[in-house]
Amino acid sequence: MFRLSSKLLGAATAGASATAAAAFVFQNRPGAAAKLDAPAEPKEINMKAFTFCEVLKTRTSSTGAEGKTGATKRITFGCKCSHQPISMVFVRATAEQHGQGEKPVTKFYNPVATTDSSFDIEVKLYPEGKVSGSLHNAKAGDVFQVKGPARQFKYATGQFKKMAFVIGGTGITPSYQLIKSVVEDSADNTPITLIFANKTKTSVPLLSELMSLQAAHKSQLEVHFLVDEEEDVGDTMRSVGWRNGRVDKDSLAELLPAPTAEGLKIFVCGPGSMAKAVSGSKVFGKGPPQQGPLTGALADLGYSAEQVHKI
Ligand SMILES: Cc1cc2nc3c(=O)[nH]c(=O)nc-3n(C[C@H](O)[C@H](O)[C@H](O)COP(=O)(O)OP(=O)(O)OC[C@H]3O[C@@H](n4cnc5c(N)ncnc54)[C@H](O)[C@@H]3O)c2cc1C
Repeated sequence: MFRLSSKLLGAATAGASATAAAAFVFQNRPGAAAKLDAPAEPKEINMKAFTFCEVLKTRTSSTGAEGKTGATKRITFGCKCSHQPISMVFVRATAEQHGQGEKPVTKFYNPVATTDSSFDIEVKLYPEGKVSGSLHNAKAGDVFQVKGPARQFKYATGQFKKMAFVIGGTGITPSYQLIKSVVEDSADNTPITLIFANKTKTSVPLLSELMSLQAAHKSQLEVHFLVDEEEDVGDTMRSVGWRNGRVDKDSLAELLPAPTAEGLKIFVCGPGSMAKAVSGSKVFGKGPPQQGPLTGALADLGYSAEQVHKI
């Protein structure tokens, strides 16, 4: 794993001693202390070039067992990311970090939390995953190159009269950005329905965050958790929006606002097979991905292409 080398650390320590010595000298000059006491600005990532961002902490999320395919991990980077929903960052793993070939590999991730000096991403582990594997192996102090944020969808307050999200697995990360920003904006009262499908009860990314949002914004945010597993979710969980089953025509017809709902926008994001069955896939070619025609369950249920956005 790529850490700050002892040489770099040595230089940093030497630099720190020199700074401390300079501070001593300067603080003895009238008026100099205030400037020197000011905290260093955190590095802010940008789209022009990769920034070296240190991993501040990592934690295995509520989903799956650590190190197993499908588990998700929260990574906190010590860089500022002034993102607007929906946006993503580019994370590069060097050949040394991913250990599979000689070239660095870059992948996209949607920040799910930000502060003035840090941002978090939630990363699912893929088998042999180069970047996801490197991030799952990361320890505090490791450094990754990060670029961004880049906009995936621009939302204006009150742009739609109703919003719905049909989401599978880590497809929740971009949707969570948008849902959070809407419900936490006191000027935005758009009602939101989230239909969130996962394999098991214990493999739901951002579960505690979603439950907190739901509890704080009950009248605006309606969440339905669907789980594939056969074991019955039980009456208690059923009473708070959980059910067994997959996202299909029947569950969508029951849970989504009707196609006749005025100003409705439905966002779809999930694994390829799910997205294809729900709305048809995006079209990838030269240039930015295109929405492509609306097919699948949403088309069968009478929704129009204008009512649907494939994230
Ligand atoms: C706009 C955008 C935003 C994204 N945001 C997030 C996010 O917030 N969190 C997150 O965990 N992921 C996110 N992803 C997916 C992420 O960018 C990587 O594709 C993922 O981490 C796998 O990369 P890797 O280098 O580890 O896998 P690779 O080394 O490229 O592949 C390893 C194996 O996993 C399979 N695989 C790779 N990607 C997928 C996939 N998406 N679905 C199914 N199989 C796959 C490959 O076929 C291969 O077998 C996002 C993707 C996009 C396009």
